[in-house]
Amino acid sequence: MLDLLIDLDNTVYPENTNIFKQIDFKMKSFISKNLKVTLDEAYTIQKKYFINNGTTLRGLMIYHDIQPELFLNYVHDIDLSNIKNNNLLNKLLKNYKGKKIIFTNGSYNHANNVLKKIGLSKNIDHIFDIIEAAYIPKPDIRTYQKVIKKYSLQPLTTIMIDDLPNNLKTAKDLGMKTVLIKNHIFNSKAYDYIDIISSDLSDTIQKINKGII
Ligand SMILES: [Mg+2]
Repeated sequence: MLDLLIDLDNTVYPENTNIFKQIDFKMKSFISKNLKVTLDEAYTIQKKYFINNGTTLRGLMIYHDIQPELFLNYVHDIDLSNIKNNNLLNKLLKNYKGKKIIFTNGSYNHANNVLKKIGLSKNIDHIFDIIEAAYIPKPDIRTYQKVIKKYSLQPLTTIMIDDLPNNLKTAKDLGMKTVLIKNHIFNSKAYDYIDIISSDLSDTIQKINKGII
């Protein structure tokens, strides 16, 4: 049985809920307030750190000594009402025998709030968040090694599911199978480290059950 490492944002719920858009805006507003720059300048800083440091938070910690809890509480204070209970996904995960682990660059509290909205809390085994990762985000290989060790995973029988290709590259380097959840930017199979592309998490689990992955 294959074990599942599942990203949270834009993977367990669809991109069109605009949840991540809210987080994205709150990151910009946090930077603007704390670094005393305009929103436009804040956005440039936000994306620069995301690209160079894996997450915006990591850059803020390295270059501005920002307290991570302040940042995480602020950016995850959002309206989750667009996330709906997902019966199909619940049923599929409930019946799935392998380990089901959320692996996110967000916080445990945010993950927990999201899972509650979908109704998934009972059907997920563990949440591995950015705090447990000692704030070293995906796609840094050290964090994957930590996850593998903590949950006694075998990379060859583990599937990583994420909406960001970069996060899947590290998983593939370690020998895992990889599934990209389609989004408006990444929607075709342009990378050799992606095994399959899937429309959502339910579709992914159905494909696993059918032996397609
Ligand atoms: Mg994501």
